[in-house]
Amino acid sequence: MRPRKDRSQETGDRRQEEGGLQSSGLDHIAIAVADLDRAVAFFRDILGLRHEGTEEVPTEGVKTAFFRAGAARIELVSPTAPGSAVSRFLERNGEGIHHIALRVDDIDAAMKSLKGAGLALTSDTPRPGAEGARITFIHPKSAHGVLVELKEEKE
Ligand code: ZN
Repeated sequence: MRPRKDRSQETGDRRQEEGGLQSSGLDHIAIAVADLDRAVAFFRDILGLRHEGTEEVPTEGVKTAFFRAGAARIELVSPTAPGSAVSRFLERNGEGIHHIALRVDDIDAAMKSLKGAGLALTSDTPRPGAEGARITFIHPKSAHGVLVELKEEKE
């Protein structure tokens, strides 16, 4: 659980961003992998990161595994269905960094603000993500070539 921020206590720097996304920070960096079990073994046994769990996310056609990496985490994503977005990504690019995820307190407000700014999102409403979170993505064409996940954590 992460306590919600009281906006009245935010610094001047933070207030300058008022009107922007107002993310509370990096949640994770995701890596697309072809063989989840082999990749889990590498990140756990060779890199020595703590494996927090593996979960299937049927709505995205993926299996995910999360690793603690300091304040942020690393997510491994592996396709469970041939036509899924991650499956197409692997066919096109091979394994590698797939997206970054920023935490937001209110994904509905964030999506409204970004759509208002003319950015392309990959869904019209928040979708169910891993760990009970609500998520959407900013399309890479609107984010300097990077797929950016927005994530509102489960209460
Ligand atoms: Zn993610």
